Amino acid sequence: MIFKKNVWSIFYFIFIVVLFLYSALLYIRYHEIKDRHLLSYKYYTEIIAQAANSIFTQEDMLLTILGNQLLGNSVYKNIQESKKILDGALDKDSLLLGFGLADIDGNIILTSSNIKLPKKSNLLKNEITKESFKEALKSSNMVVGRAMFMKSIDAWVVPLRKAIRDVEGNVIGVLNAALNLNGENSFLTNLTLSKNKSVIIIKDSININEFYRLYDNNKNNLDYEFLYNKPISEMIINSSFQNIRQKHNLSINGLRDTNSIIVFEIKDMLDKEAIVGLTYNKKFRLWYLIKNSSDEIYNEFISVLAVYSLIFILSFILFYLLFKYISTSEKRKNDALVFQTLHDTLTLLPNRTYMYKNIDRWSLNNTNGYYVMFIDLDNFKNINDKFGHIVGDNVLVEVANRLRSFFTDNEMIVRQGGDEFIILKKCQDEKVLNKKFLELINEISKTYHIDNKEFRVGLSIGISVYPKDAQTIEELLSLADTAMYEAKKRKNSYCFFSEKMRHNNILKADIEQELRSAIEKKELWMAYQPQINADGSLHGVEALARWENEKLGFVGPDKFIGVAEETGLMRELGEFIITTSLREIKKIQSELNLHFNLSINISVVQLMEADFLEYILRLIDNEAFNKSMLTLEITESLSIEDLDEVLPILNAIKEHGIEMSLDDFGTGYSSLSILKKLPINELKIDKSFIDKILYDKSERALVQSIINIGKNFNMKTLAEGVETQEQVDVLKNYKCDIFQGYYYSKPLSYDNLLQYLKHNK
Ligand code: C2E
Ligand code: CA
Ligand code: CA
Repeated sequence: MIFKKNVWSIFYFIFIVVLFLYSALLYIRYHEIKDRHLLSYKYYTEIIAQAANSIFTQEDMLLTILGNQLLGNSVYKNIQESKKILDGALDKDSLLLGFGLADIDGNIILTSSNIKLPKKSNLLKNEITKESFKEALKSSNMVVGRAMFMKSIDAWVVPLRKAIRDVEGNVIGVLNAALNLNGENSFLTNLTLSKNKSVIIIKDSININEFYRLYDNNKNNLDYEFLYNKPISEMIINSSFQNIRQKHNLSINGLRDTNSIIVFEIKDMLDKEAIVGLTYNKKFRLWYLIKNSSDEIYNEFISVLAVYSLIFILSFILFYLLFKYISTSEKRKNDALVFQTLHDTLTLLPNRTYMYKNIDRWSLNNTNGYYVMFIDLDNFKNINDKFGHIVGDNVLVEVANRLRSFFTDNEMIVRQGGDEFIILKKCQDEKVLNKKFLELINEISKTYHIDNKEFRVGLSIGISVYPKDAQTIEELLSLADTAMYEAKKRKNSYCFFSEKMRHNNILKADIEQELRSAIEKKELWMAYQPQINADGSLHGVEALARWENEKLGFVGPDKFIGVAEETGLMRELGEFIITTSLREIKKIQSELNLHFNLSINISVVQLMEADFLEYILRLIDNEAFNKSMLTLEITESLSIEDLDEVLPILNAIKEHGIEMSLDDFGTGYSSLSILKKLPINELKIDKSFIDKILYDKSERALVQSIINIGKNFNMKTLAEGVETQEQVDVLKNYKCDIFQGYYYSKPLSYDNLLQYLKHNK
């Protein structure tokens, strides 16, 4: 998750950085394009200015030559001769449409043949020609006049005027030429640049603040009257010069004095951005101007923008896909990791962590209640020990599969560990539920076929109910576990948690609490129950632990021994039992000089302690007790599962000359083959059989065969819980060896045992 977040923050970071660089690049490119365009305007303007200037210079020269021809020998007085000269010049110059010679008063005295002027045409009396004519009289240069329409030749022309002087320098007349303004032979056709660029030549004004166009190649506006006969709007002129002043720090006169070309941006009449290149020619007093809308720049920039953006977008799509790929593969890895931590690797069932993580959601979805089922396989350890862990694992996998197919997705199946499973199941009708449990037991108990072998496992199910029994999952599990232990007593069955169990649980907790200090407080003591031989002599005593607590009163060993085993108190308690028994019996033996057997109950938990043998040998040594007079009672309910572990210990004990008795015989599962393996000296027939021998024939037969088995295996048989003379008679008849029970004596305290033995000596 964290990684995923990181990957994307890296992505966004890179995205922002690249976006920034991209914007910077675009900014640079824009200015580069713009600068290039502005520079090109400089060149265009220069080209146009040079071309126009060369035309004007050429015409200036022509007018000078023609003027001199007409003046020399006063040819101009001969009309015919003069016309010939003018017509000849006209033929040679394709840009000119006609000539006219005026006297210093402005009267046209002579024209080329193609021009038919009305009589008394006077250039000084015409508004359009007046100013330039006056200028021409004063100037030694050719003067370019305002563009005008000449009716006589039906054409728009630019008049060129040049004063003709005599040797003394007095003006004799002014020679005028008409430069073709538009049409095929227009004087500037060759000068046209790209279609979109406007080339404009403006006649400068000095006296009056009116600027007139001489030439404008704007094809869109063919209204020549407007173009040439109206001065350029004052607003445009003013804003242009203001612009120039601001950007180039040049006034109009400053501009007129420099020869340089300036380029600037301006808003035109339609408020559109335009670029303008401008230069001034001093000799002819003309402004050359090239103009185009800035769109040119924008269009080029947009095509650059389009290409860059495409590259940018495409690379970011690629980049995005790459990150997406990294992040999804990371996510997949992560998911696998999460799955691993939340599932059992063997069965792939959810594990406890998963359960704890999801229990709140589960409780919310099942507020009406749910069952917590604690399942434990019966005798699974056996399979593991006998056939190895691989087979055991395979059985577990198969059990998990059966559980999975038995329950639905709405039920949570968890492997708790080992051969234990937890199932959370929504509450339902009890009858249906009971049927379901039986089906489940049936399903799991079916034969497993693994490695060509057949296996059967049973299962015990303990069930607690949310919210009836408890609120938290920990508590529910512990209650279900308690119920499971009840079910385990019957095997292959299920058991609901009950209030009685809770009561027992509480009692157990109290017992645990009190037991911890019982030895210290000297609340424990040992009682001894005599064991009598068939001939009436004393065989020995069985040591039985006793506990009287100030809070709990008298607590039976059947209750507190179990608690001690479960809570790790058994070692300490066992040491007290063994040491006390050995010491007290040894004392009585020496006091009475009576040698008899001592039987001590040893629980499986004690037996399984790693150093049990050395430990008990040490205790025996400490008390200097005669080993041959000691019997250890081991209960037969010692499960077969533990047998393999226990057997070597039992053998070692026997080798040290300590005898062993199999307690509660008949209640467990020992088969004859197992019995044969065990190093047992004595079979202790359980009280439940002795209870029934007087009225139950089959029980009687069972007891008889137990005694016979004992004889066959060379073991003594001891009947416990003998309460009546009749029982003794029956048992003696079957050749039972030893008798123990209330009929002879209840378990006795040390003092009472001493009395009893003295009395019966
Ligand atoms: P157990 O070893 O089978 O002990 C025999 C139980 O039957 C004793 O109960 C004894 O008092 C009782 N009993 C003996 N004769 C008669 C009779 O004629 N009638 C009746 N109704 N009962 C008789 P107790 O002392 O309550 O012990 C219960 C169990 O607690 C014992 O069963 C034994 O498994 C365990 N236990 C007792 N003391 C110790 C001990 O020191 N160490 C260990 N590990 N377990 C002990
Ligand atoms: Ca016993
Ligand atoms: Ca017993």
